Amino acid sequence: MASELPDGAFQLRPYSLSSAPEDPLWRITVRRSRSDGGRPAGEVSSFLHDRVGIGSTLLVSPPFGEVVLDDFDAPLLLASSGIGATSLVGMLRRLGATGPRRPVTVVHADRSAWTHPLRFDVERCVRDLGERLHVWYEDVWYEDVWYEDTEDAPAHARRGPVDLTEPELPPGTRAHLCGPGSSTRELRPALVRAGLTPKGIGHEVFGPDLWQDPG
Ligand SMILES: Cc1cc2nc3c(=O)[nH]c(=O)nc-3n(C[C@H](O)[C@H](O)[C@H](O)COP(=O)(O)OP(=O)(O)OC[C@H]3O[C@@H](n4cnc5c(N)ncnc54)[C@H](O)[C@@H]3O)c2cc1C
Repeated sequence: MASELPDGAFQLRPYSLSSAPEDPLWRITVRRSRSDGGRPAGEVSSFLHDRVGIGSTLLVSPPFGEVVLDDFDAPLLLASSGIGATSLVGMLRRLGATGPRRPVTVVHADRSAWTHPLRFDVERCVRDLGERLHVWYEDVWYEDVWYEDTEDAPAHARRGPVDLTEPELPPGTRAHLCGPGSSTRELRPALVRAGLTPKGIGHEVFGPDLWQDPG
């Protein structure tokens, strides 16, 4: 997406589609990057939040990217952190529309339930697939509690970093990882240790991708 900012600068930023391919509208979901500890506020996300609304015109390219839902029948792991949840919503909606041909495990890591983007969308999609959403938060008020169908709490939240010994991943699982660099990079070796083949792990890093891919 490209925007001309009030100072005349022309800025390009990638944003994932958080809608399903068959939806009549394209949707993006943008986390505002606020000023923090001397760092300035993000230029384009602030502009989108402050200045863009109904009737605004933006220049966008056709969708493209590294991580697309594959056509295999193999079990699937969709893992996101932070704003990376946006990429997975479209995939989950697509899986819901085509019918659950394969076991799907969905995990998400975030600071808290209140910063978890598109939480209710993700929960609904996962429920529609007959699966369970696995969530890890740095701050969780009620640890390890199962909340059935409530709109104000995640399905099942644990405290701390994602632990992929539970849920157990079926043999042959392929994975898509989306999120800011550090969390996505940390998850990959854990998946390889859990038996996934490096080539079966797709990733989309929402920021500079400094990944040293061994496989
Ligand atoms: C494949 C991909 C998909 C993405 N999908 C999404 C999505 O769906 N939703 C979403 O919200 N984002 C997504 N992003 C991230 C998005 O593209 C932008 O990077 C994000 O919105 C920040 O852009 P910005 O212009 O607001 O911040 P920028 O102005 O680019 O700043 C980025 C960061 O750098 C800091 N910074 C800027 N200048 C300085 C400085 N002089 N000194 C120190 N720090 C500084 C800012 O404080 C900010 O934290 C995606 C990224 C990629 C690569």
